[in-house]
Amino acid sequence: MRDISVCHCVECRRWSGYLGAFSATKAENIVVAGDALRWAVSPDSDRHFRRGFCGQCGSSVLLQSPDSEYLSVAVGTLDRPTGLRIAGHWYSHHAGDWDDVPDDGLPRDDELARSERRWT
Ligand SMILES: [Zn+2]
Repeated sequence: MRDISVCHCVECRRWSGYLGAFSATKAENIVVAGDALRWAVSPDSDRHFRRGFCGQCGSSVLLQSPDSEYLSVAVGTLDRPTGLRIAGHWYSHHAGDWDDVPDDGLPRDDELARSERRWT
């Protein structure tokens, strides 16, 4: 699992109620049990993401780009300990006016895109 990308974009804010926080792994590493997973197209996504959620409890679970072999996993759904760290902030310029993106020294946006810790 990759380290965590925190996303401040409008869609992640609306989807999660606060922020998107995703790890990622190759889709082949994900096994979905049962039939509760539902998908919704992310209508304003410039990368045509779709978002997976639990049809029983409504939890946000997955995020997928059709152009990627990776599947992003909402880290709030993972059991502890995950061993993951936050890699950086995406779309910090889209942050809500209540969201003071922390000055935590982690890469943001373009800087993160150029790093090894890429968004999938
Ligand atoms: Zn986002």
